[in-house]
Amino acid sequence: MTAELLSPRGRVVIVGGGAAGLMTALELAPQPVVVLSKPRLGAEGSTLWAQGGMAAAFGASDSSALHAADTMAAGDGLCDAAIVDCFTRSAPMAIKRLARLGVRFDRKKDGGFALGLEAAHSRPRIVHVGGDGAGRELMRALVAAALATPSIEILEGFEARRIVVEDNSVRGLLAVGPGGPALFATGKVVIATGGIGALFEESTNPLGSFGQGVALAARAGAVLADMEFVQFHPTALDVAARPMPLVSEALRGEGATLIDETGERFMAGTPRAELAPRDVVARAIWRRLAQGRRVFLDARTAIGANFESRFPIIAAACRKGGVDPAREPIPVRPAQHYHMGGISVDAEGCSSVAGLWACGEAACTGLHGANRLASNSLSEAAIFGAVVARSIHGASTRAHAPLRNIVTPPASDPAAVRPVLSRTAGVMRDGESLRSAVGPLAAMARSGLPAADPAAVALMIVVAALAREHSIGAHCRLDFPERPVEPRRSCLTLDGAFAEADAIAPHNLAKRA
Ligand SMILES: Cc1cc2nc3c(=O)[nH]c(=O)nc-3n(C[C@H](O)[C@H](O)[C@H](O)COP(=O)(O)OP(=O)(O)OC[C@H]3O[C@@H](n4cnc5c(N)ncnc54)[C@H](O)[C@@H]3O)c2cc1C
Repeated sequence: MTAELLSPRGRVVIVGGGAAGLMTALELAPQPVVVLSKPRLGAEGSTLWAQGGMAAAFGASDSSALHAADTMAAGDGLCDAAIVDCFTRSAPMAIKRLARLGVRFDRKKDGGFALGLEAAHSRPRIVHVGGDGAGRELMRALVAAALATPSIEILEGFEARRIVVEDNSVRGLLAVGPGGPALFATGKVVIATGGIGALFEESTNPLGSFGQGVALAARAGAVLADMEFVQFHPTALDVAARPMPLVSEALRGEGATLIDETGERFMAGTPRAELAPRDVVARAIWRRLAQGRRVFLDARTAIGANFESRFPIIAAACRKGGVDPAREPIPVRPAQHYHMGGISVDAEGCSSVAGLWACGEAACTGLHGANRLASNSLSEAAIFGAVVARSIHGASTRAHAPLRNIVTPPASDPAAVRPVLSRTAGVMRDGESLRSAVGPLAAMARSGLPAADPAAVALMIVVAALAREHSIGAHCRLDFPERPVEPRRSCLTLDGAFAEADAIAPHNLAKRA
């Protein structure tokens, strides 16, 4: 089908209407922008599902330096210190800006923000909404603000399928909307498409989060960074539902403990116990489960009868799974939750392709290093949405010749990728199983079939995980348990990943020929 040419030439096109995309659009106002949203705006996305809240150093005993130290410690030596410094200094302002946009954060009697504690934070610094409703309230306020801003045009039901690039420079974007393919002539595209969780069988992410923006950037030739670093949340509710409901860290912040089926509190001997960094807790649970044991989060004493009023969303998910969290321990297991890697961007949110910016979970700023500190990602989405907007304001627009018609790729389907990635790139990895995934993923990524783009993202995760022959942060190799002396960040292009795949699984070349 021929793509209809849409939108006045040169308008900024933002792909994704979560916290990152909407903050970019709002901060660009009154500059005209188009926001493409695959679902109805505010109906699906990780932002909507966020339970914990947003991290910022507000407390009297807190400072941006302490927030930075905690972020760097969780990131296990791989954070970009300059980005961390900029982020932690900006976080309180970003939250005040969101409050001005209408987000009703929980307040103390004196009007200040009520602050909660979460894993690996040395101070209470998490701003919540209604206990566990931060994401819902954030999206309510951002959607209302965006709809009330005349410079923002929202196109719902539009899925971005390809970025048109010439001479390493953005020329346009191909999307498919309710009326068929649509071509946007623009030199400025922002990727804000969220995470990759739906590439895994067990994830807390919405089913629409399978790294489409990362694939778009990769196919456009952009550099990706730290792709191997996938965060597994230690406490997803262990029920049959997919995606798996999250049992927030905030419960452990309130004193809930992790026990096995014998009642043993197995994190008691670990520094910070249940509030150790996520990767440490996830591995401890994984080891118990691998021994055939069961693991529970026990909130009976710490929260008990207040559970329903303090954590209504988690209480509802537990009830649906047949668990009464006030009276019985909650069954939990690790599940994919967040991607630290993504489209490599500089301090202004610019990717390696001219005219292509990225923010939110799809981007890799270097803030999270090898492991994200809890509740830093919503703050990052808000801060870097504004950073990208400032960068776009200052960027020049190049004149381009008219766009030729572009072939529309099929809608993506990650189903065939899930078993391969889940089996090989989970909480614990090893070279043999990672290598076994390379050939099948490379073949799928080159196929042009619905699995192709999801497989391209999965291939880059696996190739980067194979290349990192040590264990650090969320990347744990059973065959290389040592920590590196001087850890380095990683970067990769899709062509580079294919070249690695051809070297690792040469029989694939024959299949292609
Ligand atoms: C259950 C859960 C709880 C969490 N809790 C917290 C928390 O308490 N604190 C915290 O800091 N972080 C939390 N996180 C992480 C955080 O929510 C995300 O990292 C953050 O919301 C990402 O925002 P985003 O705008 O980048 O992506 P999203 O909010 O996921 O928005 C991206 C949007 O882009 C759309 N999209 C995708 N591909 C396309 C395409 N090709 N074309 C058009 N649209 C597309 C998606 O459908 C989605 O609507 C949580 C995550 C989950 C899953």
